Amino acid sequence: MNTSFQIGTILGIPIKLHITFLLILPVFALVFATNPAPFGFQDQSSPLINYLLSFTTTIFLFLCVLLHELGHSYIAQRYGVEIKDITLMLIGGVSSMEEIPRNPSQELKIAFAGPLVSLVIGFTLFIVNFLIASLIVSYASTSIYLMFNILGSINIVLGLFNLLPAFPMDGGRLLRAWYAKRMNYIQATHYAASVGKIFAFIMGVFGLFYNPWLILIAFFVYIGASEEDKATTVTVTLEKYLVSDVMTRDVISVSPYMSIENLLQFMLEHKHMGYPVMEGDSLKGIVTLTDVHKVPPLERAVLQVRDIMTTDVISLPVNAKASEAFKLMVSNNIGRLLVVDSTGSVVGILSRTDLMRAMMFYNEQL
Ligand code: ZN
Repeated sequence: MNTSFQIGTILGIPIKLHITFLLILPVFALVFATNPAPFGFQDQSSPLINYLLSFTTTIFLFLCVLLHELGHSYIAQRYGVEIKDITLMLIGGVSSMEEIPRNPSQELKIAFAGPLVSLVIGFTLFIVNFLIASLIVSYASTSIYLMFNILGSINIVLGLFNLLPAFPMDGGRLLRAWYAKRMNYIQATHYAASVGKIFAFIMGVFGLFYNPWLILIAFFVYIGASEEDKATTVTVTLEKYLVSDVMTRDVISVSPYMSIENLLQFMLEHKHMGYPVMEGDSLKGIVTLTDVHKVPPLERAVLQVRDIMTTDVISLPVNAKASEAFKLMVSNNIGRLLVVDSTGSVVGILSRTDLMRAMMFYNEQL
């Protein structure tokens, strides 16, 4: 399902809105509309103006979030990192970068750029408010003053919150970069994730007594730290292997005209979960046990492989790194890939199980 849509392009990066963002938009507007100054516009002269101001402030707020993300992206681009897109969603913004550089001083600058943008916006708004208010006395009672004040405060909170030394916040990356100057990348991630988890724990306990929202945030921080730790270990380890080292070579293909019944028998005999579908020398698709499971038993005699196979097959070259295969599987949510040589013919098949085996062998060697 397509859960986000593009609204424009900045610095050559597609800017997307996630559907959860459309849900959070009215919630924020409502928060601003139902709180009195200095947190909202409830005490404005008319409800219409109240809601108009609340809505505008919400839009500006998310523009600030976008600028924060563009801060990360701008620096990353300067180091040659490709940014696939920036998506605004429920929890804020996410820049999906092709690869975060392993160079600690580059990662440090990329991670710091976002919070820096937020802090600069926040302080600039405060200074602008202060300067105008000292020139025009009545300015402090205007709705513009109030809006700048709200946006300024939130940006500063956003900047500081992101500097907390815990994944998935930017501060977690800063901490990892700091460790990575002193040890290898996997260890550095592990240390930074541990600090993040301790932090989440303290935040959770604090939340028990003061604010239940903190428990929820602590939970997300804990999960984020664990995920980053795991994903980095897998990626960095798999970078040491080529696809050709870990793939299954003796590729057994099936015909598109084989019945599902026969396919099931075939799978049982050959003990693989997925097979390329070939007609002569040309690749038609890929069929897996999951595809078979979707067919009701009564239709297994009637339907053929070509009716249930996946036709947009994702393949990668035999000399690619195994870590690239892992990223492709995760981003496309698939369990296996076909491996092709320079002429485009299938030379192997690579499954998640193959990658897991490589991980296990590597850990044995440590
Ligand atoms: Zn950030």
